[in-house]
Amino acid sequence: MHIGIPAEIYAGETRVAATPETVKKYTAKGFHTVLVQSGAGAGASIPDAAYQEAGAVIVDDVSQLYSQSQVVLKVRGPAANELVMLRKDAVLIGLLSPHQAEGIEALAKQGVTAFAMEKLPRISRAQSMDVLSSQANIGGYKAVIMAAHVYQKFFPMLMTAAGTVKAARVLVLGAGVAGLQAIATAKRLGAVIEAFDVRPAVKEQVESLGAKFVEVPLTEEEKAKAETAGGYAAEMSDDYKRRQGELIHERAVAADIIISTALIPGRPAPVLIKEETVQAMKPGSVIVDMAVEAGGNCPLSELNKTVVKHGVHLIGIANLPGLVAADASALYARNLMNFLNLMLDANNGELNINREDEIIAGTLICMGGEVVK
Ligand code: NAD
Repeated sequence: MHIGIPAEIYAGETRVAATPETVKKYTAKGFHTVLVQSGAGAGASIPDAAYQEAGAVIVDDVSQLYSQSQVVLKVRGPAANELVMLRKDAVLIGLLSPHQAEGIEALAKQGVTAFAMEKLPRISRAQSMDVLSSQANIGGYKAVIMAAHVYQKFFPMLMTAAGTVKAARVLVLGAGVAGLQAIATAKRLGAVIEAFDVRPAVKEQVESLGAKFVEVPLTEEEKAKAETAGGYAAEMSDDYKRRQGELIHERAVAADIIISTALIPGRPAPVLIKEETVQAMKPGSVIVDMAVEAGGNCPLSELNKTVVKHGVHLIGIANLPGLVAADASALYARNLMNFLNLMLDANNGELNINREDEIIAGTLICMGGEVVK
């Protein structure tokens, strides 16, 4: 079987869906040929020669790559000009934005079998395939590094001969995978950290990383509703949002840096930092809005820009993992390989899509010309 790795064409996408490490594993038993588009690894500093050494065939002409590949591994969903190159019997795996119906319908129309990695069930068996986690982890780290870069003060407390410098106060909104890594990274830099999440279940994790958990008291009914069966946050009531808003305002004004990561799958990101809060923050404070692509946790942040408003720096860079492209690609490529291996017969390399498997069924978004609901 031929596995194709095209170069990503989405603006600013530096990651790549296979690395020499995964190419070596795909080709080890001689069942598969991996075709890599020339330059596909450039954004992650992987030269063609490294892929070649690992056993890949470098292809200059991308249409040739698509026409030969039964399996295509991508980071981003295909643009219109990529879509038409996919074979009718192709299997496409990537971050395919499953909440955007138009794109999925176009994929179905092309006849391909497509798997959206965003839909991977959050179960233990799927952890090694979990691209959202691997990329959010990197994003959370980079968000803190970017904040530190812009912030005009130290993160750690310093006692010097010229006097004492106070530690930075970091507020993390949303303590999922990205938020927890942001806490860990800020802690390593010496900040004092508070964190907040709608899901009370994360309190223990926040505290184990050395941060203080900021709690909005929940009614019994709200406690039961805050987390969905899939482990994600649920949309909360207006009354909860009001109480939450007041508390976040108070903690934000006391903070120097906010890393906001709050997301609700398939919905616009919750607005947690209102303009009046930004206005009340100290000049020189920094907000990294990691939810910017989903509309933002702060209405003042701007997609793929760093702006200063009311004296506060707002960083709205969407693809933070793309700024750590080498490691982000390494983890992403392993996630995809673990996922693809689920469908490959270990004895002969044949592809077998078992729709009874919860992981396969959960991620499959179109097959045989139909959108899979
Ligand atoms: P996410 O990216 O969907 O959201 C980020 C965080 O924002 C979440 O913690 C969410 O609760 C929080 N949030 C949403 N609305 C909020 C609001 N109004 N105010 C404050 N916070 C808000 O989440 P994620 O990082 O992908 O993780 C979701 C869950 O899945 C977590 O419980 C995580 O531990 C779990 N998980 C499980 C596995 C596994 O078992 N295989 C793997 C990865 C993640």
